[in-house]
Amino acid sequence: RQRNPGQDEFVQAVHDVAQDIWGWIEDKPRYHEAEILRRIAEPDRIVSFRVCWEDDDHNIRVERGWRVQNNNAIGPYKGGLRFDESVNESVLKFLAFEQTFKNSLTGLPMGGGKGGSNFNPKGKSDAEIMRFCQSFMTELYRHIGPNTDVPAGDMGVGSREIGYLFGQYKRLTGRWEGALTGKALEYGGSQMRPEATGYGAVYFLRAALKEAGEKIDGKTAIVSGSGNVALHAARKLVDCGAKVVTLSDSDGFVHDPDGFDNDKLDWIYDLKLERRGRISEYADEYSRAEFHEGKAPWAVESDLALPCATQNELDEDDAKALLDNDVLAVCEGANMPSTTEAADAFREAGIIFAPAKAANAGGVAVSGLEMSQNAERVSWDSDTLDDKLVALMEDIHDKCVEHAGETGEDGAVDYARGANIAGFRKVADAMLAYGVI
Ligand code: NDP
Repeated sequence: RQRNPGQDEFVQAVHDVAQDIWGWIEDKPRYHEAEILRRIAEPDRIVSFRVCWEDDDHNIRVERGWRVQNNNAIGPYKGGLRFDESVNESVLKFLAFEQTFKNSLTGLPMGGGKGGSNFNPKGKSDAEIMRFCQSFMTELYRHIGPNTDVPAGDMGVGSREIGYLFGQYKRLTGRWEGALTGKALEYGGSQMRPEATGYGAVYFLRAALKEAGEKIDGKTAIVSGSGNVALHAARKLVDCGAKVVTLSDSDGFVHDPDGFDNDKLDWIYDLKLERRGRISEYADEYSRAEFHEGKAPWAVESDLALPCATQNELDEDDAKALLDNDVLAVCEGANMPSTTEAADAFREAGIIFAPAKAANAGGVAVSGLEMSQNAERVSWDSDTLDDKLVALMEDIHDKCVEHAGETGEDGAVDYARGANIAGFRKVADAMLAYGVI
């Protein structure tokens, strides 16, 4: 905390990992004598830059952009770009730190990074988004490349923004190369990339439930968020036979007691991802649904809970409400959605708690496969990629189980511990091989 004053999110992320790693490396002097954890918790570098752009009324606007390159021991830096007014250095450092472990868990050769801007894309015209993205890339391009650092999308950065960013990278460098992932299919994108994080989270959850002798079919699920991750998680849950009854945005949540079917999800997909509307509009369209302004959905009775919106959206009281309702599993689609206290409560209760760095690794895994396809100049079909995604998520699940140990009175698998240790181990071994650098 003294080293990183005011960086609460970053300190929280490091603390949560360190509490598992310290216990594990205690009797492994090669890791603690080499100060590996301390080295991973200090980013390789942080680039901070001015992003200047002109709005539609010809006002000059000045925002701040960053790229945090946390660790490239096992491959080029890799991690998304986030455009949101809540973005600051602490948030990006926490995300880049987490990304390092997550990318290691995928088994693919990718280091950890993250970037973005405090630019708020809400309410901006297409032309404003384009001018901002072009200005952002005008600085970023010199720090990235297919063998250096390969950014992707995150909150506020979807395929429209990736298009503008990639176009500007290509214009500035004169090269078509896979320096970004999350591209559209017409210019080197991968099938299944938009779906991968949400679908992957459900594949992980399915594997964890199976491990406990349970299944998704017939369960009630609550999901928060209504962006890329939330909507694809909801879709896959419905495919697997669950009844999904909530979705949310930063204004509040909608509760549909009948559950969302594929037609309703199509309607919300168009509302949120195409028309850029508000989730409250769902309750105007479907009369059985209710909108709860300013609230999160955690008190709604359910078997499965998937926080898929943002960091620290689920606190200790929310965890208590979920546990009081006998929730069976909490699966994190968003990055660090549970506060430390909430995560501890789930782990102590011995329910299935699937932590973000394992459960939401499907997105970056398919990004890794997009890099491979770009390098080989091939494109695989969606069935092939879906099969690869299932296999990757089941492999991550098994690695977590292998490193987990047990928690709670019933001896449940401690997935958070398993993910932290399995993710750390590969990066740490690579760093040891390089000596002190
Ligand atoms: P999107 O921008 O597509 O969607 C974010 C959603 O979260 C929106 O519905 C947004 O609502 C909602 N939201 C934002 N802040 C809050 C808040 N304070 N309270 C309630 N809802 C809120 O982002 P993604 O779906 O891509 O990302 C969601 C999470 O998943 C993030 O933590 C991201 O880092 C993580 N993630 C994403 C990956 C990906 O492949 N996209 C990969 C791995 C992790 P509103 O419309 O009001 O802004």
